[in-house]
Amino acid sequence: MKEYVCALCPRNCGAVRQPESGSGYCRMGTLPRIARIAPHYWEEPCISGTKGSGTIFFAGCVLSCVFCQNYCISQEHIGKAMTADELTDAVKCLEQMGVHNINLVSPTPYIESVIECFSRYRPSVPVVYNTGGYEKAETLRRLEGIVDIYLPDLKYIRPELSKTYSHAENYAEYAIPAIHEMVRQTGKPVLDSKGMLLKGTIIRHLILPQNTRNSIEVLDTIQKEFGDSVLVSLMGQYLPMGRAAEFPAVNRRITRREYEKVLDRYEALGLEGFVQELSSADAQYVPDFSDDPWKGVQQSNENQ
Ligand code: SF4
Repeated sequence: MKEYVCALCPRNCGAVRQPESGSGYCRMGTLPRIARIAPHYWEEPCISGTKGSGTIFFAGCVLSCVFCQNYCISQEHIGKAMTADELTDAVKCLEQMGVHNINLVSPTPYIESVIECFSRYRPSVPVVYNTGGYEKAETLRRLEGIVDIYLPDLKYIRPELSKTYSHAENYAEYAIPAIHEMVRQTGKPVLDSKGMLLKGTIIRHLILPQNTRNSIEVLDTIQKEFGDSVLVSLMGQYLPMGRAAEFPAVNRRITRREYEKVLDRYEALGLEGFVQELSSADAQYVPDFSDDPWKGVQQSNENQ
């Protein structure tokens, strides 16, 4: 793909994107910029299992949250531009390593390449689309038949929060219909006999410090909109990273009291899914990104 006028996500930039550069909000070219290809063991148990989830971390992000723990890829754009053929090679390589699934992390700016890659090659394991949730339902419709599992965040309900921390006042306005489209495609969660997810949607919510009311509204919305059609992953791993120091309210970890307040609501609503312990808030779980995306594969092979 040479020059491309982009309106893939709710930013609707209408920006011209060249193969290796772009003038839209995400600043990305059309060639997928990739910062890590490797089995990953810290997703939900039904995604990581024992053999790892085959992650491909894409650089550039349509949200760019100020506290992003992957700031060096989402906003500093570490990584290497790869063609759709090279992306297919990455999928095949991970598949040969025996991973449970192929996990595309923040692929939104590269949906055209994702469609090209998976239209040519269909892996034998499920394909996971892992996103911050700021998506257009009409764009996602094009992924029907390609994606088996959606892993969206639902970060905020309140526009003032999504504006302050993710520069997206209309976040919930887009994220909720987008998740409806994901659930329409996947149906209710289907697990195999070993408890690995084959199909379905898991909604993630990261509890932010000083924002338990937002978290409770998010959980209430999930119950009301999606009921038992989804699994819900409640995450207590928040670490103040990226530009968090510029935003005093989110420049600390969450407290046990905040965590338990949100957990109480999760349990009271009878949501099904996964709850992450507070102890998982540790920088050791942040992956090692590089301008050489294959470094992750090499490290995994050396550790075996
Ligand atoms: S993918 Fe990037 S360039 Fe395209 S509309 Fe979204 S932010 Fe703008």
